[in-house]
Amino acid sequence: MIELSGKSAIVTGGAQGIGAHYARGLAAAGARVSICDTLDPSAVVAEIEAAGGTAIGRIADITRAADMAALASATAEAFGGIDILVNNAAIFGSLRRGSFLDIDSDTWERVLAVNVRGAFEAVKAVVPHMRERKYGKIVNISSTTVSAGAPFLLHYVTSKGAIIAMTRSLARELGPDGIRVNCMAPGLTLSEGVSGNEQYSPQVRANIASGRAISRDQLPQDLVGTLLYLCSEASDFVSGQTINVDGGSQMR
Ligand code: NAD
Repeated sequence: MIELSGKSAIVTGGAQGIGAHYARGLAAAGARVSICDTLDPSAVVAEIEAAGGTAIGRIADITRAADMAALASATAEAFGGIDILVNNAAIFGSLRRGSFLDIDSDTWERVLAVNVRGAFEAVKAVVPHMRERKYGKIVNISSTTVSAGAPFLLHYVTSKGAIIAMTRSLARELGPDGIRVNCMAPGLTLSEGVSGNEQYSPQVRANIASGRAISRDQLPQDLVGTLLYLCSEASDFVSGQTINVDGGSQMR
């Protein structure tokens, strides 16, 4: 059992989907959790508090530097510092698969802005608080679409490749401050966004499951154990790494 009592964690994009599972998992391990999203996160905050945990939430856009600075300050003030950042918010479930020739430039810009610059803005806001403690855990969220070279989502796959590159460079830049930066790459996971997207039909999901060593649908709960490990002292000598959590589909 991973123990995070006394730790303070920010989860971006935690109002629903996989991020809400991360927030619940961190709180259940004892961390105090600060959730931000462009959607109202108060239902997840209430759920965590009802279960005996500690959480705060605010509406914030990860692409806005001012929102991220305010989130970091409010979290540090409420919890006495920041130990953990889970860079989860992204655009994914709502994206339509198709040829890159049909991706318009505005959509490309928006996906890259949220999925890459958003993660950068969150790190930039949080790191000064982690530096104060000479300790921190940053967990970025990529995707196995990168190692698979998945077609028909070029903006998304490109953005998640950038997250792996960002993880490696940040790990070296922040290592001297005791800040560990790692990355988790999930396979297709039945979040609300995926379950509600008709492109991921039962047939498509069955095909994906058949390519896994553990041949079944991937659920948000399947990601929580690895996330907690990367947030905990158990992984203190691990930095700059990307861990595939996909039931043994990708093996590189
Ligand atoms: P989701 O779309 O259901 O949830 C993403 C959350 O981020 C939403 O609550 C959304 O409101 C929030 N968000 C979007 N833009 C934001 C912004 N600018 N500022 C703040 N919040 C914002 O996605 P999900 O399926 O739960 O996936 C979560 C993460 O896992 C994403 O990074 C995604 O790329 C990654 N991932 C998902 C899968 C999958 O199959 N579901 C697979 C691999 C990786």
